[in-house]
Amino acid sequence: MLDVLIIGGGPAGLAASIYAGRAQLKGILVEKLSPGGQVLVTDFVENYPGFPDGLTGFELIEKLSQHAQKFGFEIKSGQVEKIKKDEDSFLVSLLGNNEELKSRTIIIATGASHRKLGVPGEKELTGKGVSYCATCDGPFFRDQVVAVVGGGDSAVQEAIFLTKFVKKVYLIHRRDELRAVKILQERAFSNPKIEFIWDSVVEEIIGKDQVESVKIKNKKTGDIDELKVKGVFIFIGITPNTSLVSDLVDLDNRGFIKTDEWMRTSLKGIYAAGDCRSKPLLQIVTAVAEGATAAYAIEHDLQ
Ligand code: NAP
Repeated sequence: MLDVLIIGGGPAGLAASIYAGRAQLKGILVEKLSPGGQVLVTDFVENYPGFPDGLTGFELIEKLSQHAQKFGFEIKSGQVEKIKKDEDSFLVSLLGNNEELKSRTIIIATGASHRKLGVPGEKELTGKGVSYCATCDGPFFRDQVVAVVGGGDSAVQEAIFLTKFVKKVYLIHRRDELRAVKILQERAFSNPKIEFIWDSVVEEIIGKDQVESVKIKNKKTGDIDELKVKGVFIFIGITPNTSLVSDLVDLDNRGFIKTDEWMRTSLKGIYAAGDCRSKPLLQIVTAVAEGATAAYAIEHDLQ
């Protein structure tokens, strides 16, 4: 029987495993692919304390994984299929695996996924010009014209990143002001390769085998326009990966897990940390702090 099973290997899960390992709790971290989460597809992290020159998302995850393993915490590949409550513990089954893991507590650190636009052409052309990851796909669009959809930190940061490769970025936003933090806004406004298309929504992504254009509608005038682009990068926010526990713990009205300040959910023995948790600030630094808090709470509660 484990003391703690951590589900998800992003910054929250890895920080939890550092703290749990150091507290000598017996545990395993289960991650679907390899550790990383959303940070892995972040080109550059410049606001994580202690790294004034910034570092790539990949470098940060490498360091966090090494750190977790240093304290003897096992990281296992696998996709959790179901969590069952069993008296004073939990039984966790993994997809395609008959083995069931039994743990006294669980930390849900499953993060969040990118939201979809839901317009015609988006699904059909995903991987054929439609992308949700500039770090992964940006280099394929060297000297081309692309569109970025959204007005938050992700859209603006990734639009700036894309200008390293592309000829031009149209940043399409549904309002006339950005949600992104001021420093990113200033960088984007002073970047000659970025053209802002305000008050506009994407109606359709057009293309046969590859994206050819994007049809947009101006919400104020009702005008329809078509922009010739080879790529459409969509950054319109995130939805929490909480379906595993939606029947077990209380969620807020957007599907994020509610916790107290110890990261305890409404079900005794289940804790949550990181982007899947209901909170005001979704950042690596908060995810890490919550992972540490959840592990500390477990050490305290088990005692
Ligand atoms: P976000 O902050 O929720 O922004 C989503 C953007 O997409 C908003 O501008 C929103 O418009 C727009 N949008 C939402 N639904 C849309 C739709 N259906 N059609 C068109 N536009 C739509 O999401 P995010 O940028 O992915 O960021 C998620 C979290 O990660 C945030 O807390 C952010 O601060 C954090 N983050 C931080 C950094 C950093 O610190 N460097 C980098 C990336 C992300 P409205 O503005 O009109 O609502």
